[in-house]
Amino acid sequence: MTLQLHLKPGREIPIMRGHPWIMSGAISRDSGNRSLDVADIIAANGTFIARATVHPPSEIRARVFSTTAGAELNAPGIRVLLKLAIERRQRWLPWGLDTATRLVASECDSLPGLIVDRYADVLVVQILTAPWEARRDMLVEILQDLLHPRTIWERSDVDVRRHEELEPRKGLLAGAALSGPVAFREDEFRFLADVENGHKTGFYLDQRFNRQSLTRWVGQMGKPRVLNVFAYTDSFGICALKAGASQVISLDSSVSAKELSDRQLALNPDCNPALRDYRLGDAFEQLRQLREEKERFDLIILDPPKLVSRKAKMQQGLRAYKDINLLACQLMNPGGVLFSYSCSGLVDRELFGKVIEGAARDAKRPVQFLDNLGQPPDHPRKPGFAESEYLKGFVVGF
Ligand code: SAH
Repeated sequence: MTLQLHLKPGREIPIMRGHPWIMSGAISRDSGNRSLDVADIIAANGTFIARATVHPPSEIRARVFSTTAGAELNAPGIRVLLKLAIERRQRWLPWGLDTATRLVASECDSLPGLIVDRYADVLVVQILTAPWEARRDMLVEILQDLLHPRTIWERSDVDVRRHEELEPRKGLLAGAALSGPVAFREDEFRFLADVENGHKTGFYLDQRFNRQSLTRWVGQMGKPRVLNVFAYTDSFGICALKAGASQVISLDSSVSAKELSDRQLALNPDCNPALRDYRLGDAFEQLRQLREEKERFDLIILDPPKLVSRKAKMQQGLRAYKDINLLACQLMNPGGVLFSYSCSGLVDRELFGKVIEGAARDAKRPVQFLDNLGQPPDHPRKPGFAESEYLKGFVVGF
C-alpha cells in the first residue's frame, strides 16, 4: 500500500506550476502506509499530482521529485536522476566537470535535499533531509560507479537539518582521506576548497560567472582600486589582482578564511601579494571606519552572507542590505562600479534592486544599473520555484 498525502482544495496549483514544497498546512489528510518516506500527492478532486519525499517532523512536509506516477527513489530511480544531472552538465557547461562544478542542486535537479559538488577528483555530498539519510550508502555506491572519485566527503553539518531532527554530520564516506584543502582550476585561476571545514562545501561555486564578469570589468577599467567586502578566501580579490587592480583591500571576520586566502593567493603567481591587504573584523564597522578615513575606491564588491534567512527577519535583513550598500555608495569614486549581491532566496531581484536604489538616493549619488548577475548553469533555477533564484547581483555605475 502506498502512502498518499491529500491536498486541500487549490493547493495543487503551485505544485503543478513547479513548486516542489508541500507545506504541512496544505495537507488535509494522509492515507496508506505511514512508515514510507515517499508518497503520492493527491489533489482534493482525487487526481494524482506528483511523487514526493516525506518529512514528518518538518514544516515542509513533502518535496516533489517526480510528476510520474509510480516513480521511486530507490537505487535505479536515484541512478537515473543522478545520470541526468551529470549528463546535462557535461552537455551544457562551457567548462570540464573535473574542475569544480555543482553536480546536483537539490530540488532543481529533482533530487530534493541532496547537493553534490565536485572539486577536481573529490566529491562533496550534502544531505539536508531525512529520506537521504536512509539512502546514503546507496547514493555513495552509485556516485562511485558513475564518477570514480578519489574521495567522497560528507558535509551535512548544516542548520537546516534540525528541521528534520537530524544531527550535523561530516566525514569520509568513501575513498582516500583528505590531506588539507583541495586545489582545483577555474578558468585561468587556481583556487582551494576547504572541503573539510570551509563554508558551504568549501567554496562559493555559485559566483563562477561573476568572477569572470569582475575580471572583465577590472581589465576594462584600468588599474582600479578595489574593496572586496565579505571576501571569504578572497577569490574575487584574486580575480581583480590578476586583471590589473592597483590595490585590493579585502574585509572579512573569519580568521580561517584569511589564512586560506593567503595560500590561495600564493597559488596564482601573477597576483602580487603586496597589492593585497586582507583586514579581519566586522565588515559593517570596517566600512564605517573607511568612510571616516575618507578612503575612496573605484570598484567595490559586496557579497554578504544570507541576511534574510526567514520571513520574520525580512525588515531587519533589508535594513542591513541597505546599510552596506549606502556605505559602499559613500566610499565610491566618481566613475566607479559597485558589484552588489544578495544570496537571500526570500529577497527577489526587484526588491533587492529597490534596496540599492534607496541606498544610492540616500547617499545622493545618481547611479546607473549596468548589468544583472546571478547563478551559473550548474546552479539551475526551477520555474515555479522563485526561491531557487537565490543569488542576485547588480553591477551599478557611479
Ligand atoms: N565573496 C566570497 C563569499 C562571501 S560569503 C566568495 O566569493 O568566496 C560571506 C562572508 O561574509 C563569509 O566569509 C563570512 O565569514 C563573512 N561575514 C559574515 N558576517 C560578517 C561580518 N559581520 N563582518 C565581516 N565578515 C562577515
